[in-house]
Amino acid sequence: IGDELEGKPSRFHALMMFTKVDRSLSLQEKFQVAMRSMAKHGRFLEDEMLVLHYVSDAGSQELGSKMLPELLLDATFKYEVVFHEVDTLTEKLFPIVEAMQKHFSAGSGAYYSDAIFFLSVAMHRIMPAELKRIVQLDLDLKFRSNIRDLFQEFNHFPSEAVIGIAREMQPVYRHTFWQYRKENPKSRVGDPPPDGLPGFNSGVMLLNLDAMRRSTLYNQLLEPERVAHLAEKYHFRGHLGDQDFFTMIGMEHRELFHPLSCGWNRQLCTWWREHGYGDVFQLYYHCDGPVHIYHGNCNTPIPDD
Ligand code: UDP
Ligand code: MN
Repeated sequence: IGDELEGKPSRFHALMMFTKVDRSLSLQEKFQVAMRSMAKHGRFLEDEMLVLHYVSDAGSQELGSKMLPELLLDATFKYEVVFHEVDTLTEKLFPIVEAMQKHFSAGSGAYYSDAIFFLSVAMHRIMPAELKRIVQLDLDLKFRSNIRDLFQEFNHFPSEAVIGIAREMQPVYRHTFWQYRKENPKSRVGDPPPDGLPGFNSGVMLLNLDAMRRSTLYNQLLEPERVAHLAEKYHFRGHLGDQDFFTMIGMEHRELFHPLSCGWNRQLCTWWREHGYGDVFQLYYHCDGPVHIYHGNCNTPIPDD
């Protein structure tokens, strides 16, 4: 903790959702690719340690703790594994995110079990105050760079930013904001990069928990009335959980978000190319520069390099 106060953390925290993995071969394969590639490319200093957090049910925890030692055999760095019970976190989360669930979840009701899809949104209220920064990662990732370099992005946050996140690489939010865009034809909401606001993807996120706790604005935006007001203004109805919330508040308050380069979350899903957006798809999908992390979203295979 002393080191962290001096702004030179010796413990690097990464968290992954890890539920129902024991019942899915496909998730087990993704887990293997993610952890093996993280181990292969990870480099840390002598006194540093990577702390791997998994949010799990009992069956997935048992499987994960069996598989991890082998997957991380090639790691040259020290690491520690922490499992968090999904039920315990859900219980803490639900009262905070219940009101926003109806705007950003599939279906109509606010299902208790869906609260966990909003973990990143309220992580700063749930995790102990000693935990100052954490990176949240999907399982369907493949690392091509040192994960330690990703943590360095925390040091480039502007003063008002609380979250580091890459843009969404499909025109999904062009679709979601269809009505708002029609009513506001000059707006950049939902437009492609580099000048537009295509929204965010939550596969790789840097959560500055300290900054999230301190930001009056961010915590106001969690209040049910504020969420309802913005959802009405933008005619927003989504089903992608945390990334919908971040995308919506990002349209209003860009200063809260530190943009990661597309190479830190190179999404591969092409679903929207075949579903009415073929003409503009490339404008969103395009990503120049080095790929540090591939994201095989919507079950898209990841190239072997
Ligand atoms: N996940 C999980 N159990 C599941 C489904 C998803 O733990 O049964 C986690 C996993 O970490 C996964 C993340 O939720 O990477 C988001 O889901 P996914 O990556 O499949 O969504 P996509 O990126 O394709 O939208
Ligand atoms: Mn994913």
